[in-house]
Amino acid sequence: MITQAPRIVTSRVGLPDSFTLERYLATGGYEGLRKALSMAPADVAAEVNKASLLGRGGAGFPAGRKWSMLRKATTTYLVVNGDESEPATFKDHMLIERDPHQIIEGTAIAAYATGVELAFIYCRGEFALGLERLQQACNEAYEHGALGAEVLGSGYALDIVIHPGAGAYICGEETALLESLEGKRGFPRIKPPFFPAAVGLYGEPTVVNNVETVSNLPWIIAHGGDGFTALGEGSSTGTRLFALSGRVEHPGWFEIEMSKTTFRDLIYDPSLGGGIPGGKNLRAFIPGGVSAPWFGPDQLDLGLNQDAVGQAGSMLGSGSVVVMDSDTCPVRAAWRIARFFYRESCGQCTPCREGSGWIEKIMHRLEQGLGREEDIDLVLDACDNLSPGLAWPPKQTTICVFGPSIPSAIVSVAKMFRDELLVHVKEGSCPFPPDTVRRG
Ligand code: SF4
Repeated sequence: MITQAPRIVTSRVGLPDSFTLERYLATGGYEGLRKALSMAPADVAAEVNKASLLGRGGAGFPAGRKWSMLRKATTTYLVVNGDESEPATFKDHMLIERDPHQIIEGTAIAAYATGVELAFIYCRGEFALGLERLQQACNEAYEHGALGAEVLGSGYALDIVIHPGAGAYICGEETALLESLEGKRGFPRIKPPFFPAAVGLYGEPTVVNNVETVSNLPWIIAHGGDGFTALGEGSSTGTRLFALSGRVEHPGWFEIEMSKTTFRDLIYDPSLGGGIPGGKNLRAFIPGGVSAPWFGPDQLDLGLNQDAVGQAGSMLGSGSVVVMDSDTCPVRAAWRIARFFYRESCGQCTPCREGSGWIEKIMHRLEQGLGREEDIDLVLDACDNLSPGLAWPPKQTTICVFGPSIPSAIVSVAKMFRDELLVHVKEGSCPFPPDTVRRG
């Protein structure tokens, strides 16, 4: 069902000057922060807790509960994760470019609620325009008095540092991001003890929130946690941004009410995805980024609800939905995902470093029609070393969840498209039409 839910994080998107301070102030900007500063920090945190705002970065952990882990700590940092680098995931990119003041305001609210006086926004380095606008917004916020020694004349002091990343996907993993922020190579840290809430940036308790997560905060404070929970259902409250790509008429990002809207709505509704070009049939779709197990057409009527998607055997993850039609070779799609993981593995853990290469090579030869039937079991065996039992959610043999994420696409193809895999082997070539994009 397409609902008339308000646009919480994209209300200014579409205005040509959406990124400027003038437009931000003219559309209620920094009023959420002003209201937050009139409240006790614990009351701000309680309001966010009441909203049940799930983190929008991938793990889906409630933001309010994350903050409560830090409540008793003495020194903390806040880090906002804007290192969005996954294929087909592009919602944070849009927020950074189109509404950077909203991120600054949300960061300031989160910092005030957690008692932080120094916050960092770590932004993917390749977002050249986004970085420029984010830095400009930060400078304007200082000039406006929304940052600095006296935030909006309240006596609360906050500095924000914008930090560009250097181009590694793994720096989106929160502990790798903290290493990178400290000037080191972006290696994920071993947990325990390096849970950021306990041992984070420079060894201090640190909260890490996603760009979309903090972008919700001005609205939540202005309208109350109850206003947010009035949208959505169960634990999936409010609205959420989804990045829709692949074989759809209208690829793009859409802010939609959680739970009430289904995957069918997102993909087929004329106001959203608009259906599959040429009237072709849906073969499969990825419901939440390349780490997520795939769904088939039988899951189209699932609501965009974190729990429901989890119970169905996948995740909403990064909010990226990729559509494959009847002309899409699922083996090629899975190989491409494996190739991405192989190239981006940080190399610390043997199962991930070696396994990702094995998986990529086997999938490549299968897709090219050069594989053998026993390669299907071989690639699943390599996956089993990364994620024992090939269960969902995956078991972890590695320092971070990157490694156990690799098998999702491969296992999906082996389960859903074994016949297509065998046709590649028997015919000695890929039976699907070539891509319209460059391969290699
Ligand atoms: Fe690095 Fe992979 Fe190990 Fe994560 S699982 S720490 S990406 S080698």
